[in-house]
Amino acid sequence: MSRKRNFYAGPSTMPLEVLETLQQEFVDFQGNGLSLIEASHRGEPFESFYFETLEKVRSIMEIPKEYEVFFLGGGATLQFAMIPLNFLPKRGVADYINSGTWSLKAAKDAQKVGNINYYYDGSSSNFAFLPEVDSVTPSAQSEYLYLCSNETTGGLQWQDFPDTKDVPLIADISSDLMSRPIPIERFSLLFAGVQKNIGPSGATLVILKKEMLERQQRELPGYLDYKVHVKNEGLYNTPPVFNIWAVRRVLDWIEKHGGTKGMAQRAEKKSSLLYHAIEASGGFYHCHVNADYRSKMNIVFRLPSEELEKKFLTEAKEANMVGLKGHRSVGGMRASLYNSLPIEDVEELVSLMKEFQRVNG
Ligand SMILES: *Cc1c(COP(=O)(O)O)cnc(C)c1O
Repeated sequence: MSRKRNFYAGPSTMPLEVLETLQQEFVDFQGNGLSLIEASHRGEPFESFYFETLEKVRSIMEIPKEYEVFFLGGGATLQFAMIPLNFLPKRGVADYINSGTWSLKAAKDAQKVGNINYYYDGSSSNFAFLPEVDSVTPSAQSEYLYLCSNETTGGLQWQDFPDTKDVPLIADISSDLMSRPIPIERFSLLFAGVQKNIGPSGATLVILKKEMLERQQRELPGYLDYKVHVKNEGLYNTPPVFNIWAVRRVLDWIEKHGGTKGMAQRAEKKSSLLYHAIEASGGFYHCHVNADYRSKMNIVFRLPSEELEKKFLTEAKEANMVGLKGHRSVGGMRASLYNSLPIEDVEELVSLMKEFQRVNG
């Protein structure tokens, strides 16, 4: 078997040893005589495994006990709606930072529920910048301030986070989940689809500060109400069992490789290899994102022409590399360097880039 060098933005690469463990556990889960996906979520062996998994998330991310942790369905996208439904009252207003595709999608959903204020809009600079962290102060009466920690499409990442004091800070951390330590206490709600960094698509991790529940005053259908999920410890309905299983094995892998600090070192190493290659190309490769805000997860870059970009993609494919085509909304190239992508894959990409430039530059 020859595995691809996988730069897909999501779903995306998983650690090989995790795939192998899942394969090996799949039919008979730890001697229980059945697969975990055949077992009821209301009993053993699932329940212990589930609660241990939540504990592992807490320990890896150092989540204080004032926070609830659970998995939901509906992707990160469902959270775009649940957040305003739960925390944006009809006459209230919430601040949204538009840093690109994903934060804008969230803002547009919130607009259908209540009033929003674009605290910052990066579209005028073609999303090359983010606001200065120290300058971010939510507007008066804001119910919460929303940001996306890493814009998967645009290749921007917050390097540090604002202190919004009494105004709850909410963040979509889908594409840099567990890729670095983050100060949980600064946030009131964090969420992430797991399919970028810690598992297969189908589960969304939610980390919610308990006191947020007091703000939830709306009558909502059960599934849309965070209070219902908290009350049921994330088991209000059938949870995404297989995802939780796979996530758990990735968590084991992350722990073994130094936790979020280890992941941050990997991300630093991989991303700087690639950014250095871009900078050293004398403009042949170009990244439009300002150096202070460049993502360590999703690296976007362009070549001198669309023709060369096409050619580059073809050659990458021949070299066993997949997923390098930029998001259809922005074009160009994008290399996603999620937690489990081997460093060697980036080294191979960099040598392909050098050789391609030598021939075509
Ligand atoms: C992929 C992604 C989403 C969407 O996730 P789904 O699970 O497909 O709903 C949202 N936000 C960010 C930052 C993403 O990268």
